Amino acid sequence: MTQNHWDAVIIGGGLAGLVSAAVLGKAGMKTLLLEKAKSAGGRAKTDIISGQYFNIGPHALYKNGKAVPILKELGVEINGSAPKIGGLLMDGNESFTAPFSPTGVLQSKLLNWKEKIEWIGILRRIQKLKPGQFSKLTFQQFVDETTQAPKIQKLLFTLGRLVSYSHAPEQISASVMLAHMQIGMGGVIYVDGGWQSIIDQLYNQAVTNHVQIQTSANVKPLTALDNGQWQITVSNPEPIYCSNIIYTGPPQALSGLLGESSQLPFNQFEPIKAAALDVALTRLPNPENLFAMGIDAPYYYSVHSNYARLSKKGESTILHVLKYHHPNESIDATEEKRKLENFLEVLQPGWQKYIITKRCLPQITVNGRLPMVNDTSLFTRSSAILPGLYAAGDWASPSFILSEAAAESGKQAALEVIDKEMRIKHAN
Ligand SMILES: Cc1cc2nc3c(=O)[nH]c(=O)nc-3n(C[C@H](O)[C@H](O)[C@H](O)COP(=O)(O)OP(=O)(O)OC[C@H]3O[C@@H](n4cnc5c(N)ncnc54)[C@H](O)[C@@H]3O)c2cc1C
Repeated sequence: MTQNHWDAVIIGGGLAGLVSAAVLGKAGMKTLLLEKAKSAGGRAKTDIISGQYFNIGPHALYKNGKAVPILKELGVEINGSAPKIGGLLMDGNESFTAPFSPTGVLQSKLLNWKEKIEWIGILRRIQKLKPGQFSKLTFQQFVDETTQAPKIQKLLFTLGRLVSYSHAPEQISASVMLAHMQIGMGGVIYVDGGWQSIIDQLYNQAVTNHVQIQTSANVKPLTALDNGQWQITVSNPEPIYCSNIIYTGPPQALSGLLGESSQLPFNQFEPIKAAALDVALTRLPNPENLFAMGIDAPYYYSVHSNYARLSKKGESTILHVLKYHHPNESIDATEEKRKLENFLEVLQPGWQKYIITKRCLPQITVNGRLPMVNDTSLFTRSSAILPGLYAAGDWASPSFILSEAAAESGKQAALEVIDKEMRIKHAN
């Protein structure tokens, strides 16, 4: 084997790719990670702008999800704290206490007593049910079967948006949505230093175990060779050879990398998209308002710096506003920014006076795939798409999305590569 031959090449240095790298590195696999951006992290990176730590929109790590145990197993320390469950629900210009906690239910004027009892029963049922049993239903169908009360239906859609970032209840699979509702009910952590602190620890873990990481390396064609190996071309003329590839880029781009004859079903995946406004202020005009969601419109607002250190000195206020996009929506960047700023104005009147810096991302992919009813049949028990080519990323799990899917599929793909290489080694 040549110098330029690797047991595994990982394409993409986001959360999925770095989890794969850390797992492969620990197992002593000769591993190369290629990332097209100037630095690793993908959508889990944190940009430092004027000393303020901006995740790419609001990022909350689910305490009871799939990612936390995998990160801990890999030695990643997660510091930060859990925001209080509650806040406000906005219905036009009216606001109500969110009935997302026992006190919230008692205090909220959104629901009458009969509705409150029904709502508590539905939350209890969701906590206990088996999400897989609802794989034939969309979330909209689940909601229609669950309740006829319009306000409770709206609450379920709001909670659904919060945990999945999806604003397409008529399309998203109920089983994935319910799995994320169960995870969401366990609470979240806002991470100190932003999600970059997770990325940095995974990166260091991989490098310590001799994984080579190359940034500014945009992978172009992937060619399967007759001897069962793969050839990878980057901008550099020297091709790279490997026994296994873990692909973590967008699902829609994979066919293109494999050549014209390849038509993978992942081309059809619709991403989940949103508009995010990341804001740093010297102080909040209204310090009482720390969290709000729209129930009549698809908005989110949360002050993350109340629970995590998100600036160099830890003195600034970092908050995120988000609008969940419907897949059929056409997006006008200026209009999106205006809508996000207006939503913030309702909650924090005069916020512009205290601004340190802000950033608007009008149309960002939150998840590579909007999970649909029946698309789970595209995933088999193995993450291999072709012999020696494995998929990982937030789109590559039948049952989960977001960081849960990214971390779980990154680990799974790496374990399959290790297993294959060990079997070949023992056979020789
Ligand atoms: C606004 C927003 C809010 C979010 N909030 C949450 C949240 O609260 N909780 C949560 O769990 N998740 C959240 N997420 C989702 C989470 O950030 C992602 O699910 C996760 O970071 C995806 O990791 P990944 O490795 O699958 O993909 P990515 O992070 O996209 O990584 C893929 C990497 O591959 C690289 N790449 C692509 N093509 C190539 C190529 N040809 N050659 C080389 N490199 C390539 C890309 O540059 C990228 O770095 C949020 C995302 C957004 C955008």
